[in-house]
Amino acid sequence: MTRTDPFATSLRTHLGGELRASHAGAKVRLGGWVHRARNLGGLVFVDLRDRAGIVQVSFDPAYTPAEVLERAASLGNETVVLVEGTVMARPQEMRNADVATGDIEVRATGLEIVGPAVPAAIPVARSRNENLAAEELRLRHRYLDLRRPELQKNIVMRHRLMQRARRFLSEQGFLEIETPILTKPTPEGARDYLVPSRVHAGEFYALPQSPQLYKQLLMVSGFDRYFQIARCFRDEDLRADRQPEFTQIDIEASFVDQEDVMALAEGLIGALWAEAGYEIPERFPRITYADAMERYGIDRPDLRFGLEIGDASKLFATLDFAPTKAALDEGGRVRGIVVPGGGKLSRKQLDELDVVAKSAGARGVLRVKRTGDTMSASKAAELLGVEGAGKLGIADGDLALFVAGPDHVTSPALDRIRQELARMLDLIPAGERRFVWVVDFPMFEKDPSTGALGAVHHPFTSPLPEDVSLLASAPQRARARAYDVVLNGTELGGGSIRISNPETQGKIFGLLGIDEATATKRFGFLLEGLRAGAPPHGGIAFGFDRIAMLLADAGSLRDVIAFPKTTAARALFEGAPTQVPAQDLEELHVKVAEAQA
Ligand code: ASP
Repeated sequence: MTRTDPFATSLRTHLGGELRASHAGAKVRLGGWVHRARNLGGLVFVDLRDRAGIVQVSFDPAYTPAEVLERAASLGNETVVLVEGTVMARPQEMRNADVATGDIEVRATGLEIVGPAVPAAIPVARSRNENLAAEELRLRHRYLDLRRPELQKNIVMRHRLMQRARRFLSEQGFLEIETPILTKPTPEGARDYLVPSRVHAGEFYALPQSPQLYKQLLMVSGFDRYFQIARCFRDEDLRADRQPEFTQIDIEASFVDQEDVMALAEGLIGALWAEAGYEIPERFPRITYADAMERYGIDRPDLRFGLEIGDASKLFATLDFAPTKAALDEGGRVRGIVVPGGGKLSRKQLDELDVVAKSAGARGVLRVKRTGDTMSASKAAELLGVEGAGKLGIADGDLALFVAGPDHVTSPALDRIRQELARMLDLIPAGERRFVWVVDFPMFEKDPSTGALGAVHHPFTSPLPEDVSLLASAPQRARARAYDVVLNGTELGGGSIRISNPETQGKIFGLLGIDEATATKRFGFLLEGLRAGAPPHGGIAFGFDRIAMLLADAGSLRDVIAFPKTTAARALFEGAPTQVPAQDLEELHVKVAEAQA
């Protein structure tokens, strides 16, 4: 065979996991790890694992020299070996259809043990179904856990997606440009990771929360189309499945409108999903933020099931029912979900829904059940009667759940109830993918405690042209040229058309309570750039880890990141963060306020 294997080196001829029946007869040298060794007394079978998979190597006195066989008999799991032998087709009845290399085996004639002899700290599971060691233990021994075929497959998928993104964007004329890691705070709404400067006492760099300002400046400089597979750092409160450092596919383009960015994003998503073997629609439907909040209670709706939220305030206003009346009098609404066939939910399930709604801030959930013409489950149900039920679309066998209060209470509560119901009633079809754009986000949100306005996307987002006049009169009603792309209730990415006019940017800073002096201090370089002549520009950023997780069908973000942090933001393998010698702190002009325990 003269085929030059791209993985051939001076130590090996092939990857063992790539051997097939077509290699039968070939003399090969392989390198890898002993996945399992079985000693059958005189005969030794080794599952040899390398990056491409697992191949069976047999040691048999019929073809293996005695001293080689002896060495093979002593092999422990996870030992690194070099094997020499001949590929043989297995007899029909010995073939193993579950393994890609199952039609062949390698008959060993030579064996070199590279090392080591220490037993592996955790077993390396061969398949998804095998029991795994506790995650903390696996993260501590990440180099071993990464040997697992499943994690190897995930990391390979991540690589392929990254290359596909690069290729797709390069083909569209985007330039990959790196931006600094040691930088100045960028406002994406989280806390910054700070790095003290040794040479400038008392001064700090910030790690970028995103390349936002740099990518806008690249547009000012005329690069026209930029992208970066960018590492971002956000010191946010700990939450399951969030990483303090993560990767974005970050994009910015000039002389574009919202439609251009959205079409580009759809193309990129299509390419990434195609890389993983899925065909998806070319264009995604759209929903406005207001509509999403009204019908689903959340700005990233899961459209795989119905259970839309309806407004029942009008009807409840006619009822003599104190709890909802009070909420309505205070300016709130009564909103709810009709659950077709929901009458069959158990008491326990209903109680679970109560807990879910309360944890989202609701006082309680009002149950209305209809069985034939009988209304039950609450006083309100009786007051509503069959006529009221009819108006609300509650049919025989249905259950309706209502929450009363201001929208900022009812929306999250009903969103949680809706999701929980879908799970309980098994309403989510397997393999369903519902992409949707959420558009027309508000420019600002009010901090409930201080009343101050904050940017919903970020302060560089431009308002919808028809809402510019609202900035002076009712800024809270002004909508932004911002868009998020959502899949099955998960946000994949978001972006906006930016403000390219320095005066408008100044006004927005003003509304956000950032005075001129502060604006100049924090974002002077951007304002200067805008004054130097900025083209209309906009962009988007995708959460790459999340996309890789979805497309590798992995259970957590940690399963698609080679060296992830725990949910407590610790790196267990290398042991970070860590205390540093006093002398280092001194050089950095840093004093630690309290001694650590
Ligand atoms: N910089 C934004 C973010 O990280 C994305 C964008 O507006 O392009 O969310």
